[in-house]
Amino acid sequence: MSLLVMKFGGTSVADLARIENAAQKVKAEVENGHNVIVIVSAMSGKTNELVGWVSETSPFYDAREYDAVVSSGENVTAGLMALRLQEMDVPARSWQGWQVPVKTTSAHSSARIEDILPQNINAKFAEGMKVAVVAGFQGISPEGRITTLGRGGSDTTAVAFAAAFGAERCDIYTDVDGVYTTDPRVSEKARKLDKIAFEEMLELASLGAKVLQTRSVELAMRYKVKLRVLSSFEEQTDTAGTLVCDEEEIMENRPVSGIAFSRDEAKMTLVSVLDTPGVAAAIFGPLSEAGINVDMIIQNISEEDAGKNITDMTFSCPTDQVARAKKALDAAQASGALVFDELIVDENVAKVSAVGIGMRSQSGVAAKMFKTLSDEGINIKVIATSEIKISVLIDRKYMELAVQALHDAFELERA
Ligand code: ASP
Ligand code: MG
Repeated sequence: MSLLVMKFGGTSVADLARIENAAQKVKAEVENGHNVIVIVSAMSGKTNELVGWVSETSPFYDAREYDAVVSSGENVTAGLMALRLQEMDVPARSWQGWQVPVKTTSAHSSARIEDILPQNINAKFAEGMKVAVVAGFQGISPEGRITTLGRGGSDTTAVAFAAAFGAERCDIYTDVDGVYTTDPRVSEKARKLDKIAFEEMLELASLGAKVLQTRSVELAMRYKVKLRVLSSFEEQTDTAGTLVCDEEEIMENRPVSGIAFSRDEAKMTLVSVLDTPGVAAAIFGPLSEAGINVDMIIQNISEEDAGKNITDMTFSCPTDQVARAKKALDAAQASGALVFDELIVDENVAKVSAVGIGMRSQSGVAAKMFKTLSDEGINIKVIATSEIKISVLIDRKYMELAVQALHDAFELERA
């Protein structure tokens, strides 16, 4: 019996009518001869509401109780989906994470899935159940407490189930009809991609494209889960959505497949740190202990300062981590572990990135990107590259312009 995983995000189960719409899609796959594991999110807005209730009740909440509360939205949609399917004469049963069980670490509010035991669900399939509806985003810790997987975690639940059960495919139903060359709200020329390679999707997801949780893409890549992103509001066809797949399945690689951006970046510069071994460790050690997601890093000495043994260190991090980063660096200075003259924070920057596996084999992509930005009069503040990505930090007010100009320059509107 072939098995599919179908995941429905918050907007796809936002009310009873939408749950019915989603259930129709599940029923259609059952009629196509599949057993189905359905992963559901909470109704849209529900998780935010629950998080709000927790913070209002207890600002420095106990993370175990946060998880107890915040995981509950998915329990509601799982039960309702199972009931709706039963009403349509589809044998269905709901499962909370602990019932499966989905075993996770005990890192409450950002737990990782360690293992999913398929026996219980498979036993029910053997008895004739056609659909297992599983509450996404949750699991159980070794201590027996409910855990959650971090915001957007139902995507990861879905991919993990697809891997654990050897599903034929993992379909992620959402409110957009696939992965785009960039955000259509920023460039009207954005085009839906039929296919995208795991690695590109991973870069796009971690660079701020919000279609899939980054960890779900990592998992899909590792276990080679065939992942499809599609809209629950459109008719299903064979070419619907975007297939996230191995790069071998993509015939022709363009140098750039997509332009990603993130508005909420900050640039921090430590002025006049010593240019001696151990200084970078003295800066980034405390930052990492404080949980700061440092992204781009530059260290450079002007010729003028050469020989003086001092340098500046610049890095970027999300704006909402600036206060914590400052605190960590000030503490390092106070303890004598780190010496610097000044800490300059620029919170008015945005990151724009060009991503494409074709970059590996084609040269000139960076030059073209920089020329395009310069033609628009946009100053580049920081540059970082990987094998398949070039990111720049620019003034936030030019972000849209930069995205549009790059989208044009790399002709992404053309199929
Ligand atoms: N409901 C959770 C959230 O809003 C998990 C998810 O939908 O993926 O983050
Ligand atoms: Mg989501």
